[in-house]
Amino acid sequence: MQNSERWTDLRRPLLTGLALGLFLLLLPMAALGSGAGHSVAVLPASPTPAAPVAPTQVPPGERDGSRTVRILQKDGSVETMTMADYLLRVVSAEMPASFEPEALKAQAVCARTYALWRAEAGSHAAEGADVCADSSCCQAYLSPADAAARWGAHAAEYTAKLSAAVADTDGQVLTYGGSLIQAVFFSSAAGATEDAAAVWGSALPYLVSVDSPEGDEVPNYRSTVTLSADEVKALAEGAGLGCDLSGDPSGWFSGLTRTASGRVAALSLGGVSMTGGAARSLFSLRSTAFDVSFADGAFTFSVTGYGHGVGLSQYGANALAKEGASWREIVEHYYTGVTIQEGI
Ligand SMILES: [Zn+2]
Repeated sequence: MQNSERWTDLRRPLLTGLALGLFLLLLPMAALGSGAGHSVAVLPASPTPAAPVAPTQVPPGERDGSRTVRILQKDGSVETMTMADYLLRVVSAEMPASFEPEALKAQAVCARTYALWRAEAGSHAAEGADVCADSSCCQAYLSPADAAARWGAHAAEYTAKLSAAVADTDGQVLTYGGSLIQAVFFSSAAGATEDAAAVWGSALPYLVSVDSPEGDEVPNYRSTVTLSADEVKALAEGAGLGCDLSGDPSGWFSGLTRTASGRVAALSLGGVSMTGGAARSLFSLRSTAFDVSFADGAFTFSVTGYGHGVGLSQYGANALAKEGASWREIVEHYYTGVTIQEGI
């Protein structure tokens, strides 16, 4: 992979000007790669293709097959591969492969948009990468071997299905005002998505609350976390919040306020105010759509949905797809006012 390392070095100082050069450099490889399926007849002595396509993988589209992405791995190394191969790994990790094809396509478009936005922002430029493989930072990432192990007998079917979702949306991205959007997504919502402003403090016109149709068909859609008063006290003290928890535990939580979508905006614990997000993190709740009650010496958090609630709901996308929505309709539903366009 000497070539990949060389391209990595080249791209650093010449991000914009290099796009055409990179494309031209990759053209011969793309031709080899995409022609691999026919090479028995045409080129029987063909050298090893630069980007071999696994037998069950649908051949990549022209745009995703010719664009490279540099991925910072968890061990600190940087791996370079085509956008098509990268997106297959992201969709494999981020969405159940059993989902509807249109939901998987919507996920592929989000993942492509997000990766390009990250690359443009230069988040990992210092490490010589465009994105990283850490889901808490960029996007989750599952190698073909790990995906096959997860899918078992469905491995071939799912590899074909997910790579088709990538190929069928080849190069398609989401923009707003001519710029790539922050195509954030999450697992499932409690009836509606959340405004970005309510979660991260700054508003974005395309990340505003919309209805989301998923419900009790979602695994663990409703969950509970039960903590004794002593456990809540220990967590609060561990976080150094300075709460006054000397009184009756039934009065520890107060002042709960909700956002327009029904999630907890803020609450007070022992006289100290915290956001719903901080409470979610402190008590390991699956979302900020929760109620808290106290009985028999313990607090019970009753939680609905999973994730931060901003942008595309994956289970909502699947529910919409089951109702017949296309991937275009799905992304236009979750990202208000965006434009779908090819490449950027
Ligand atoms: Zn990252």
